[in-house]
Amino acid sequence: MLAVTILGNNSAIPAFGRHPTAQIVTTADDLLMFDCGEGSQIQILNYRIKRSRINHIFISHLHGDHYFGLIGLLNSFALLGRIQPLHVYGTPALIEVINLQFRLSSTSLPFQFTFHPIEKAGLILDAKSYTVECFPTQHRIECWGFLVREKRQLRKINIEKTAAHNIPTTAFPELQAGADFIETDGTIIKNELLTDENVKAKSYAFCADTIYDETLVPIVQEADLIYHESTYPAALAEKATERFHSTSKQAATIALKANVGRLLIGHFSAKFEHVDQFETEAREVFPKTELAREGVTYLI
Ligand SMILES: [Zn+2]
Ligand SMILES: [Zn+2]
Repeated sequence: MLAVTILGNNSAIPAFGRHPTAQIVTTADDLLMFDCGEGSQIQILNYRIKRSRINHIFISHLHGDHYFGLIGLLNSFALLGRIQPLHVYGTPALIEVINLQFRLSSTSLPFQFTFHPIEKAGLILDAKSYTVECFPTQHRIECWGFLVREKRQLRKINIEKTAAHNIPTTAFPELQAGADFIETDGTIIKNELLTDENVKAKSYAFCADTIYDETLVPIVQEADLIYHESTYPAALAEKATERFHSTSKQAATIALKANVGRLLIGHFSAKFEHVDQFETEAREVFPKTELAREGVTYLI
């Protein structure tokens, strides 16, 4: 399974009850965290996220609204006596911040902590049921987006059909992998006659902070769900470009060009109390758009 829970959907500062960026992605193996803005651990408690299941934290960039909650969360993990390993991914400078804070406070972590510096695009995590790749986005400072893909699901053995053909169970692993069955006399029984398609492997892209950038299109092409920032409404396109951010319609244009399943927009400017107009504008370009609402889990 793949799902994303929004913990924070605002940009820059907390405002109107909205928090800085943080998301939890649920996979069949464990929980991933994308960005960890200030207040994330409060949100984790508010939305009853099982924090002990968070094994991987990915930080897109070093603007404070994307990682000021990280030290607090790591410190709480230490105080709670966490024992399972934790992996954090981010630009190389992030480890300097972490080390400085822990050195000055004489904090030592009781669990195995591994920092993975992100230096180039590509695969950064290969887990049992999914992979995570990173890709650069165009922002005022170095910034990375993340793409989670479930691994291809094996085909399902159709018990009635395999019994009707007297297929031995020892052949099942190969059938699940997609192979045809070959009888002793050389007759071939097509795989589709013996197995059924399993649930489709899903994908989710977190596009971080970014200016409108069409180089994202091939990267997130055909993803089932993407999150794209929409800091400003469509009328403020010029300001968005100046600040290396995007508008509602620009986010929707990327989703449309990439032919994705659905679009979530967030990272709303703290100047706006009401954000419904972001959704209305984006839907004019890409109807399957939703606001990334805090506390809501979007199944992928
Ligand atoms: Zn930001
Ligand atoms: Zn930023």
